[in-house]
Amino acid sequence: MTFLNELEQRIGQQHVLTGQSMHQYLEDWRGRYTGTALAVARPATTEEVAQVVRLCAQHRVPIVPQGGNTGLCGGATPDNSATALVLSLERLNKIRSVDTENDTMVVEAGCILQNVQQAARDHQRLFPLSLAAEGSCTIGGNLATNAGGTQVLRYGNARDLTLGLEVVTAQGEILHGLLGLRKDNTGYDLRNLFIGSEGTLGIITAATIKLYPQPVAACTALLALNTIEDAVQVLALARQGLAASLTGFELIAGNCLQAVLHCYPDQRMPFQGPAEKAAWYALLELSDSESLEHARERFESVIGQALEQDLVQDAVIAETIAQSKALWHLRESIPLAEKAYGKSIKHDVSIPVSVMSQFVHETDKALQEAFPGLENVTFGHLGDGNLHYNVARGTAFTEEELLKRQDEIYALVHDSVHRFNGSISAEHGVGQLKRQLLPRYKDPVSLTLMKQIKMALDPLGIMNPGKVLPD
Ligand code: FAD
Repeated sequence: MTFLNELEQRIGQQHVLTGQSMHQYLEDWRGRYTGTALAVARPATTEEVAQVVRLCAQHRVPIVPQGGNTGLCGGATPDNSATALVLSLERLNKIRSVDTENDTMVVEAGCILQNVQQAARDHQRLFPLSLAAEGSCTIGGNLATNAGGTQVLRYGNARDLTLGLEVVTAQGEILHGLLGLRKDNTGYDLRNLFIGSEGTLGIITAATIKLYPQPVAACTALLALNTIEDAVQVLALARQGLAASLTGFELIAGNCLQAVLHCYPDQRMPFQGPAEKAAWYALLELSDSESLEHARERFESVIGQALEQDLVQDAVIAETIAQSKALWHLRESIPLAEKAYGKSIKHDVSIPVSVMSQFVHETDKALQEAFPGLENVTFGHLGDGNLHYNVARGTAFTEEELLKRQDEIYALVHDSVHRFNGSISAEHGVGQLKRQLLPRYKDPVSLTLMKQIKMALDPLGIMNPGKVLPD
């Protein structure tokens, strides 16, 4: 019997896709990577996943795990050899249980993030992971990439929101680790090893995640700013004045919002006058556990101080939930507007906030000197020291010319990140996009240990080969 026949026997013929029906699984969200595959398997249970992995191990078939396929580093796209099996987790999409006394929820890997948030709301709880792709990304993909998003400042990234994992190992065994414990010091932290491993060590099939109280009130404001230094100072004021109630602090360059307004004419800039064309904007969010009055008082006090100190040109505080949503919608539309303008070169970097403005000025200057006419498209989660320091073709380059010079642009920006003691991947991961860059920027001992871990957990090398680790 052939591999495909055996696969069909285990999970049902209709859940093994081949030919044209594989199309949507073979290209990444950005359209930067396309691959080919032997087939796409869509198992529905952990046991089926384990059977598929055992079969792949027996036939030495490489496995590319895939969730919502919204990753930005090509991690879920197979190569062009047509030898790999894409293993889609989309049918593992049950909320298995909610424990409101322990404030935990057990969810299967293929649950769409938005559905997980809604399930928490249905029990008057908050699951705070939030990102612009939340309508299509899955919790398994979020954990495999250790996703960040807009609430990291207060709640941490996907790793911080997880207590336990169920994983199918590269040998097809099931690791039962769904404990909902906040304390468990019984040895090595395997959960944290699988989180962020981008499918190269095993397949996450379910997770026990943390729930939080829903905030009683939230306030959102958009501030127009002259400089990035001002943004950093406003962040310091907001941290000081709002402490743990500050749940989001996003930085947006003026041209990003202009691009959104151009692509989506139904969206509106909430300012009039010079603030409509400010160089920078900051989107702030406060979540309060007392009352709306309490929230507004604290929020207005901090924004008032920033205005008094001349750090802010103009400020708009949302009066209603609809206005707050509209402000967030502006921010969340940036990646889509960016995509509509064509392919860009993305740098998802983290830099200590204390040197962020210096990094931006020096890198902008070096880029313009080396590639006059390129356009910076900079936005991100300033509160976490994470910028999406992206580069678009601007007026001087065609898309092809830009992509041809990708390696030079990467080197310039990432060398600068390295000089400022930053990281070349803050939240999107490594995938195929950045794996060959690791030897230049990552500590060599860390890399050696990573390779040894990979050998120990996946000796046949079938788990997502060609991702994360350099050749
Ligand atoms: P996929 O793209 O399917 O897979 C991503 C990686 O995880 C691949 O390596 C894949 O092999 C592996 N994988 C997937 N599922 C599993 C599993 N169950 N077990 C093991 N490995 C698995 N990311 C952020 O961190 N913050 C943001 O703010 C953010 N904003 C975004 C905005 C937009 C518009 C888009 C398109 C993407 C954004 N992303 C962001 C990136 C992306 O959404 C996240 O990386 C997300 O966590 C990926 O989830 P997914 O289910 O789509 O995973």
